[in-house]
Amino acid sequence: MFGARAAAISTTLLVAAAQAGVEPGRSTAPHSITRHFTPADRVSGRYQYLPFDVPAGTGTLRVSYQYDRANGNNVVDLGLFEPGSLEIGTRAFRGYSGGAKAAVTISAAETTPGYRPGPLPAGQWHALLGLYKVDERGVTVTVTVDTEAGADPPAPGMVRLKPDATLQPVAAGMVRLKPDTTLRPDATSRPDGARWLMGALHMHTLHSDGTVSPVELMRLARDAGFDFVAITDHNNTTHTDDPALGNLDRPLWIVGEEVTTPGGHANVWGLKAGDWVDFRIAPEDRRINDLVGAARRLGGLFSINHPASECAGCGWSHEVVDGVEGVEISNGRHGEVEKALAFWDQLLITGRRITGVGSSDWHAAPNPIDVANVRVYADALTEEAILSAIRNGRVIVMGRARDETPEIIVRAGDQAARGGQALTVAAGAPMVVEVNAASLKGRHGTLVAVTNGVRAAAVSLDELGQLTLRQRANPGYLRFELYADDGSLFAATNPVYLVRP
Ligand SMILES: [Zn+2]
Ligand SMILES: [Zn+2]
Repeated sequence: MFGARAAAISTTLLVAAAQAGVEPGRSTAPHSITRHFTPADRVSGRYQYLPFDVPAGTGTLRVSYQYDRANGNNVVDLGLFEPGSLEIGTRAFRGYSGGAKAAVTISAAETTPGYRPGPLPAGQWHALLGLYKVDERGVTVTVTVDTEAGADPPAPGMVRLKPDATLQPVAAGMVRLKPDTTLRPDATSRPDGARWLMGALHMHTLHSDGTVSPVELMRLARDAGFDFVAITDHNNTTHTDDPALGNLDRPLWIVGEEVTTPGGHANVWGLKAGDWVDFRIAPEDRRINDLVGAARRLGGLFSINHPASECAGCGWSHEVVDGVEGVEISNGRHGEVEKALAFWDQLLITGRRITGVGSSDWHAAPNPIDVANVRVYADALTEEAILSAIRNGRVIVMGRARDETPEIIVRAGDQAARGGQALTVAAGAPMVVEVNAASLKGRHGTLVAVTNGVRAAAVSLDELGQLTLRQRANPGYLRFELYADDGSLFAATNPVYLVRP
């Protein structure tokens, strides 16, 4: 579907390239491409592709674009593809900056955040224009492309382009940056038994629309007490190109991507440097299965973000296909906690075991970085242990970093379970729920038990933040929400699953 559209556009641009007098190894004069898009174009082609030629020997490519923002009624996103396929999952993807950057520079050694550095292959590239919003009068977009010849290619293996990057000789004396797996911080593993670890699972940096570098983000998270942080910029993982990240001991760094489709957003955690999960899927497109499948093949955990957000295209309108393992039930920036909890219950009552998570979706100060966070009960501070614990529902979503993780245990006979675990019980069997939330001491905390989507009346904790509750088993699931006296969500557990004998 993309090929036909690109072919229709290319005539104008090839003329522009011919007029620019492209010769191998020579810089070209900047040339501009202007296109007008209507609301109908947005419906028929949410992503538009503008081809342009990059001559052989190019060392630096600059692409900038401008359009009338019409007081926010026009929003156009930018991405780049090098020569190759434009199909979903293509390896020709070179980077994405959404609406955050008006100009992008790529060279072998460095790039604008959001784009991969490396050789610039000659041939037909494409600027991706994402028509996020188009005013009823339409939007005219001008893309300007400027190339500059590179220095003589270095002899293979002789030049280090970036600290900690390993060079791999490729064709014609060019070099390619190879992801250096030694940057992975799993060396901080401390296999000293299971414990609650605090994590930030949804964080933005300068590699998308965040305001701080990856290293600054990690320092802020460390100062707030986080044990691990997943960096989840929109539609790229290029933060992995930041060599300074490898020098940090703590917090543990997990490579993520916020896959930002026109039908909702999802985080993928556990990717590697250079990995990318495509995002160009319209709400009714069945290829959402392909995206989730691709994320899983890369070893990633796919978790829906802010499913009930009302911002355009942010709420989840895709099917929740097999392979989705998590859903963000609390997100400080979007704040539709009640609706997100209802969305989660709709999945749980069908028998699916999808883990509820929370994170602040942090972009910038002064927003608090911890306004939603997770406590994960993991064997070790390693990516593998943490993602395994999340998959198994060993997660409590909390409202603030400074509050202690509450203990909520469900007992039936001689069995005991915390969130994510199962109890084998007959219908009507007696159960005891023990709650101990030290941080709710003196705060008039309340507990709401949710059984198979049905919410019980709130029950008060005592002055110590404790409660013992007797209940009859109702096979299915049982989860808990704790509230502070100001009505804010203090904690939400994952379900204890009640399985008939
Ligand atoms: Zn989002
Ligand atoms: Zn986000």
